[in-house]
Amino acid sequence: MKVLKFGGTSVGSAERMKHVANLVQDGEKKIVVLSAMAGTTNTLLKIAAYVKAGSVTGAENEIYMLELKYEKEVQNLFSTEEWRENTWSGLKKLFLDLREETHRPYSLKLEKRIVFFGEVFSTFLFENYMRELGADCASVFALDFMRLNEDSEPDMQQTEMLLSKQLHEAGEHEIIITQGFICINAQNEIDNLKRGGSDYSASIIGACVEADEIQIWTDIDGMHNNDPRYVEGTQPVPQLSFEEAAELAYFGAKILHPTCILPAKMKSIPVRLKNTLDPEALGTLISNDYKKGKIEAVAAKDGIAVVRIQSDRMLLAYGFLSRVFSVFEKYKTAIDLIATSEVAVSMSIDDTSNIGAIVNELRRLGTVSFETGLSIISVVGDLRSDNLGFEAKVTEALHDIPVRMISYGGSDHNISLLVRTEDKVKALRSLSKALF
Ligand code: ASP
Ligand code: MG
Repeated sequence: MKVLKFGGTSVGSAERMKHVANLVQDGEKKIVVLSAMAGTTNTLLKIAAYVKAGSVTGAENEIYMLELKYEKEVQNLFSTEEWRENTWSGLKKLFLDLREETHRPYSLKLEKRIVFFGEVFSTFLFENYMRELGADCASVFALDFMRLNEDSEPDMQQTEMLLSKQLHEAGEHEIIITQGFICINAQNEIDNLKRGGSDYSASIIGACVEADEIQIWTDIDGMHNNDPRYVEGTQPVPQLSFEEAAELAYFGAKILHPTCILPAKMKSIPVRLKNTLDPEALGTLISNDYKKGKIEAVAAKDGIAVVRIQSDRMLLAYGFLSRVFSVFEKYKTAIDLIATSEVAVSMSIDDTSNIGAIVNELRRLGTVSFETGLSIISVVGDLRSDNLGFEAKVTEALHDIPVRMISYGGSDHNISLLVRTEDKVKALRSLSKALF
């Protein structure tokens, strides 16, 4: 059994959906996980924002326009009047449900009940289309199995148990269709796995059914060895370890939701990134294997700030770092990179919303300064100590760019450097030239 997830652009129009329908009919058993059609989740969030602002007409206008879009997609997708009418009347009911939600008072819970419709629309359209084609398919409803625990983390045990029950009830079929993103939380309310969370859904489902492979289908041919928006001639990386992929996803490669591969990794299930626009392309295979001694890719992440604290009290003292970290903990701010010397420590953060308060509290511990407008450049690969000269190549490539901080040795597969965002493109280009 395989799990195939198709993202928003892959199901973004009737044309693209037909293409996906083609791809999934190969006689092999699979679970197909769908995101909302491209743009729909954003529109639903806009609708929720209108509800929040008390603008009934604003919300209604957006719903009306969304309804028109889906009406057009139904026209284009189906070839028989019967399935067109069937599907459209089903969708109209769903739109009525959506309207009803928008008449309730705003809350974050309500917002989640509103964005929920995106994945419901796309799977409803897709399943009906597969039926019109006569495909051997059935669907399971994500709310009937995808569960969060008290910490708002996936409840793997519950989910596995419920999914297995749902799959059993659905019976044997070539294709089982379900929604990504949406779930039920520990309070028994509709919730979701956060923006981009359909990848996560696919990985959780794959882990629960112990799939042979999890495939994430997008519109790019895998993870590239550099950012194609800034660097010409980037190449897809054929193979990455789970650790390398996680670093890349976290440090900027937008193609994959960073936490998404954890469930797959726990069960050692390979994750393959594929391109719906070029299904023959190899894409990227993420597994426990890695290429020995190879630098695989470079990625960048913007919006980074660095906080530096200097204190004589740090000299030969224990407990200093723990006092520093507790300030970040208090403001629920994650630290990404750290560099320490005997009398100072620099830490990078990407959530700067509490930076003022953090800096103020840190002043009790020493002299504090901070800088914003920075980017993390992350170089990923197999960097074990027998791989000589690796860091030299990286720093040599950046010899004419001011580097604010370097973090090396924290893991065997990553070296991260902090540069000013205005130097980022130059840094990415020089690294590509030097490394690939
Ligand atoms: N539809 C959701 C979003 O736009 C989930 C996803 O696409 O993965 O964030
Ligand atoms: Mg996505």
